[in-house]
Amino acid sequence: MSQLPADQPHAIPPRRLVLVGPPGVGKGTMSALLKERLGLRTLSSGEIFRHEIEMQTDLGRMAKRYIDHGELVPNGVTIEMMSKQLHDPQIKQSGFVLDGFPRTVKQAEALDEVLFELEQGLDKVVSLEVPQEVIVQRLTGRIGCTKCGEIYHSKNKPPKREGVCDRCNSPLFVREDDRPETIRERIRVFWETTAPVIEYYAKTSTLQRVDASHGPENTYAAICS
Ligand code: ADP
Ligand code: ZN
Repeated sequence: MSQLPADQPHAIPPRRLVLVGPPGVGKGTMSALLKERLGLRTLSSGEIFRHEIEMQTDLGRMAKRYIDHGELVPNGVTIEMMSKQLHDPQIKQSGFVLDGFPRTVKQAEALDEVLFELEQGLDKVVSLEVPQEVIVQRLTGRIGCTKCGEIYHSKNKPPKREGVCDRCNSPLFVREDDRPETIRERIRVFWETTAPVIEYYAKTSTLQRVDASHGPENTYAAICS
C-alpha cells in the first residue's frame, strides 16, 4: 500500500480490493459503485457462475447443483475460475474488486499465491457488516437487472415500471437462490465457512470493517476513506 505524506489532504482510493460479507450485505451494489467511479474491474464469483449457468457450460451445470441449494461450489473449480480472471493482463491497469471471492480460507490462501505470482498485493479487504435482520429483509424481495446488474427491492427500492430496469430497460429477475429456505442456508454457510476468512485477513493489516447499514453512499465513503 502506498504511504501518503501527512499533509496530503486526499487519500488515494484503493485499486485492489476484496469485499467480504454475508449474502445481501450489499457487495454487489458496492462493487458496481467502485466500478463506476474508480473504473475498477469487478470480479464477482457469483455473477461469473450465473453467466456460466446461462451459457449452459459444463462448469455452469456443475455449479448450479450447489448454488440452487445455497451451498458453496467446490474450492478447486472456483479457484481455477477466479485465477483465470485475475491473470487477464488488463487487470494490472484497471485494478479490481473481488466480490464473493475468497469465501473459504482455502480460497484466501490460493488468492495470496495467485497475487504473489502476479506481483500484485491487496490494498484493502473490506468486511461489510450489517445486523442479521436487515440481511434477511434485503434478500427477500431482491430483484436484479438481467443486463446491467442494477439491484432493486420490491419494497425498499422498486423500479419505476414493474419488471423493467430504470437504467437500461432490460427485464428484471429474482435469483433462484433468493428463496427463504435457501437464504437461511446461505447465511448459515457464511457464518461457518466465510467468517473465518475475515479472521484470516484480520491477521494482516489490510482488513477494514465497515458498517454497511447506512446506505450505499456512506458505505462507499467509508471504503474510500
Ligand atoms: P451472495 O453473496 O448474495 O450470496 P453471490 O452471487 O456472491 O451471492 O453467490 C451466489 C452463490 O454462488 C453462492 O451461494 C455460492 O453457491 C456460489 N459462489 C459464489 N462465490 C463462490 C465462491 N467463492 N466459492 C464457492 N461458491 C461460490
Ligand atoms: Zn439494467
